[in-house]
Amino acid sequence: MSRSSQGPHLPVVVRQSVVGFGVYARRCLKRNTRVGRIRGQIIDDVGYSSDYCMELGGSLSLEPSYPFRYLNHSCEPNCEIIQWEYEGNRSELWLHTRLPVEAGEELKIDYSWPAESAIPCLCGSPNCRGWIIDPIELPLIRA
Ligand SMILES: [Zn+2]
Repeated sequence: MSRSSQGPHLPVVVRQSVVGFGVYARRCLKRNTRVGRIRGQIIDDVGYSSDYCMELGGSLSLEPSYPFRYLNHSCEPNCEIIQWEYEGNRSELWLHTRLPVEAGEELKIDYSWPAESAIPCLCGSPNCRGWIIDPIELPLIRA
């Protein structure tokens, strides 16, 4: 892994978590901090799915590379992924904090999976949906 593609300047470290690996803050981060760009392989296949892929819209998915492929889910996450669109259908994904993060705290995002992909959630947040699922699709799984 080259220095320029995943610089050691990123304020995160990948460590063992309760669910495999997780991404942890190396220092405290303010709300709305741009943590880093999520890089990886772009896949143009509407049927593509994997444990880590992120939808980019249309038929495009991103298979994220280290370290952000290890971002875990929370129903009340401290981070979110922002998609920046550029001309020529080019876009970049960036991880931003949406809450203040302490040094050593795990960074998490809301996976918002569709109902057919949902699995039970163990995030432990007070408002846990019980499933890793898009809140809009929650009535489908309860039905
Ligand atoms: Zn949850």
